[in-house]
Amino acid sequence: MSNECLYREHNTHHSSQQRSVNCENVAITVAMGDGIGPEITRATLKVLSAAKARITTESIDIGEQVYLAGYSSGIKQEAWQSLRRTKVFLKGPITTPSGSGYKSLNVTIRKTLGLYANVRPCISYSPYVQTLHPAMDIVIIRENEEDLYAGIEHRQTDEVYQCLKLITRPGCEKIIRYAFEYARAHGRKKVTCMVKDNIMKMTDGLFYKVFQEIGAEYPEISQDRYIIDIGSARLATRPELFDVIVTTNLYGDIISDIAAELSGSIGLAGSANIGEHVAMFEAIHGSAPDIAGQNVANPSGLLLASVMMLVHIGQADVAEKIHNAWLKTIEDGIHTKDLKSEHTKVLVTTDQFAEAVIARLGTTPQRFTTVSYQHSTQPQKPVSVAYQPQPAAKKILVGVDIFLHQHQHSADELAQRLQQLETKELELQMITNRGVKVWPEGFPETFCTDHWRCRFMLRAGLTELTYSDIIRLLGQISGDNLDVIKTENLCSFNGELGFTLGQGQ
Ligand code: NAD
Repeated sequence: MSNECLYREHNTHHSSQQRSVNCENVAITVAMGDGIGPEITRATLKVLSAAKARITTESIDIGEQVYLAGYSSGIKQEAWQSLRRTKVFLKGPITTPSGSGYKSLNVTIRKTLGLYANVRPCISYSPYVQTLHPAMDIVIIRENEEDLYAGIEHRQTDEVYQCLKLITRPGCEKIIRYAFEYARAHGRKKVTCMVKDNIMKMTDGLFYKVFQEIGAEYPEISQDRYIIDIGSARLATRPELFDVIVTTNLYGDIISDIAAELSGSIGLAGSANIGEHVAMFEAIHGSAPDIAGQNVANPSGLLLASVMMLVHIGQADVAEKIHNAWLKTIEDGIHTKDLKSEHTKVLVTTDQFAEAVIARLGTTPQRFTTVSYQHSTQPQKPVSVAYQPQPAAKKILVGVDIFLHQHQHSADELAQRLQQLETKELELQMITNRGVKVWPEGFPETFCTDHWRCRFMLRAGLTELTYSDIIRLLGQISGDNLDVIKTENLCSFNGELGFTLGQGQ
């Protein structure tokens, strides 16, 4: 029986007798992780077992030991096979060794399996968990596959390194529709978009444009947008302003750690990574090497992630049982070290915390609201959305940015030299250094590195270039012993420019 089938049966029948129909075990893949990973994963599995989660587990080894055994991606082929077979992954945190030889396994897994939506609920548990913001109850929906996390980085000159920020229309459409569908399904009232589109007009600008387009299809949900810097500041001081936040990968990574920490401890928040085919569940924190092996880590992040996993595989009954027992444990003042406050009655180890949750299975909290995953406004399965491609735009090549590695040149000298090399199709329009226009009419105060962007545009009277025109120009430039690093074509799409102006242009 597939997970989908389990879910549908479960969602349409609410009696406990009907629920017992869904008794088949669901296979899930488990990785213990690094650092505190084995401690918190063992504690989580213990609770899942005591709550009679209908799962069988397949263990895979990933992370530090696999990296050190010579697998630069941190994962072996057999682990991928398990993930593709079970399609459900409960993952302990992983240590990414420092150094350029290692790629982040978390990013690799999310991207390889198409887990485009990272869902991170951050909730305050006041007064039992000390927090500056007792009313915080937000969900951060972070785009998970693109942005600076594409991992495309180059050293281009002696002085300059580059990381490509890739934002795509399919990526934006999928995550933003997901955020609205999530809000609708979970009875949430507002979706806030956080971007930096005042600076990154094309990439973050696209994200916000798609937010407006898709938002128009959800008139019942209120919508707003913050520039990420003031948005993060407001999140830290007035989180009650927010409900669901949708944002790009890097901003989402940063603000979800802030939000989790604000709720009382980074150790509290779980997350779901949702794709069309596979879903992965993990704590939002890392492997915490500073407290590894001490049996003091808070297993709540991974445990709450496992609650999200149970909902995902159609076991809302077990999810509810565990979540309510966990709330009861917290309000009974049974806390791990990170939650220690005047409300702590018993300070416990990781294992003891799991035992305390197990002892409370079947009970409900007195002070916190009892969680119900079977309510009609809270469907059991996280929403998943497909992308519909748009028709191709009419694309016209109108110029080229040629990037040069040059020492000991003033912008004026470089311009003079390049003007000698112009062709009958392309003429030099401007030179920038780190994005700032330095020719024509540059300022002597502008600091210049050895990395020059030279913009050539088609000459007046021409309407379109071919790539051969650019190759001819490149031949001229490299023939003059200038060091070409790379080029970017300048195009218009349905008449709209597909590039930004230089700063100061
Ligand atoms: P971290 O989240 O591991 O730790 C930050 C701080 O929070 C530490 O002081 C730690 O002791 C504390 N902390 C974290 N989890 C806790 C818990 N459950 N209970 C109590 N305290 C907890 O972040 P870091 O130190 O920057 O990163 C350590 C390693 O984890 C790095 O190698 C990083 O790449 C990796 N990492 C992995 C993931 C993941 O697997 N999803 C996420 C973030 C970082």
